[in-house]
Parts: sequence; C-alpha cells; structure tokens
Amino acid sequence: MNVRVVSLVQKDLNASILRAVTGEEKAAVARAYPDGAVHNVLNVLLLRGNGVTALVDTGYDWSVGALDAALAQANLGRQDVTHVVVTHAHGDHVGGLTQDKKAVFPRATVLFSEKELAAWTDAEDAKSAPAGLSRMFESVADICAAYGERVRTFAPGTALFPELPGVQAVDEAGHTPGHVGVMIREEDRVFLFWSDLLHAFDAQQAMPSVSASFDMDPAAAARVREDLLNRARAEGWLVVGSHVPFTEPRVLK
Ligand SMILES: [Zn+2]
Repeated sequence: MNVRVVSLVQKDLNASILRAVTGEEKAAVARAYPDGAVHNVLNVLLLRGNGVTALVDTGYDWSVGALDAALAQANLGRQDVTHVVVTHAHGDHVGGLTQDKKAVFPRATVLFSEKELAAWTDAEDAKSAPAGLSRMFESVADICAAYGERVRTFAPGTALFPELPGVQAVDEAGHTPGHVGVMIREEDRVFLFWSDLLHAFDAQQAMPSVSASFDMDPAAAARVREDLLNRARAEGWLVVGSHVPFTEPRVLK
C-alpha cells in the first residue's frame, strides 16, 4: 500500500484556541507558544493499493486547487479517486467534497462514520442549531445530495475497504460526535492519521488534558487524546494529524 501525507495549507493558529484551565495547563501552553503562534499545516492522506485510491479528508472548498495539484503529482485526477473517507464534518475536512453543490470527485464513494453522519443529518437538531453549527448540517446535506447513494457509513474498528483489510477507523469521538482517525496496520508497522485529536501539537501532546475551543465535548476529547497518545508512545506508532507542525509521520518521544 502506498500512503502519502499531503499538506494543503500552511496555517498558524493562535494559542488562545486552547482551553487551559489549571495553572499547570496554562504554564504548558505558555511554554510551548511564547508568542502565542501555533505553527500548523493542514494535512490529508492519499492511500493507494489493491484498486483503491482513497483520500482521507479533502481540505477546504478553497484548497481544492492544492488537492488537484497533489493528485496530479501522483499522476491522478479527480476521476481516479475511488473513495473519500471523512474523519468528521468540519469545513476544513469536508469542504473539498463539493463545489457549487456538485461532487468534486465524480466516481468516489464517500465514507462517513455512522455516528458522524447521524449527528449532522438529524432534522430536529439542524433546526435548533446555532449559526456556527448550522453550516455543518448544510455542508453534509450538500454532500448527501451531490453523492447520493455513494454516501456510505462505517463503524470504527472494522475495515474501511474490503480490498485493504489493514485500514480501519479509530473511534475518536469528542472533537465531534463521530470523529475518527484512520489506522493502517502493515506487518509490524502501525500508522495513525489522528485527524483532529489535537490542534496544538507541542502543548497538547505534553498536556493532553487541554482541549481546544473546537472540541464539541472537551472532556471526551481529552480522554481519547490521552489514551491514544499513550498507546502511540508505548507501541511506537508512526503518527501524523490534520493540524500538526509537520507532514512526515513520526514516532512520539
Ligand atoms: Zn475539526
């Protein structure tokens, strides 16, 4: 299997997105970001093998050009993408699936976790959603309209593609109700694309109890962050996320 991390955008965040509560947490944030700038990129994954050409997330609607360029570099076009795995429905992850309400990837099957699709297609919740969240309901509705029967769901812990049994989603609920990472097991190697497990790598890998303002359930996000970071360290996994200051997967110290 060929796994490529594609960096679409260079994007600094401000450390004020972090919800440091205790003195210890505030000190960890100040230590990591003395000038308040959190250096970040926006990464997506391109997986190829056994007839599958899959993207994991798509970036923003306005970064589709960068995605096209990355596909072209791999001698691929939009029509070659067989699957798009959605880690969650935030605009920087699903924005590139549609343009003018049309499917960007004409042949792709779009894979959502069951919980994430259910959360953002709930008609009652959509009606009462605050402005910040109503965009997510709208973009998921656009994706469902554009891809129709090619929108499918998966449960974390099962293979995402029958052709690639080593690739499965990892439940990371907390950031959003059905947020997932994607884990690839090949021989002795474990690789985790953790999506939005964290947004400020230096502070949050040192102090996983600190959640970001984007985490819908900060306590659940903190629990899964701590658990996965511990396991990644103990088992020597190669890791990379959507919002980290690096593109080359690495083993955590
Ligand atoms: Zn997100």
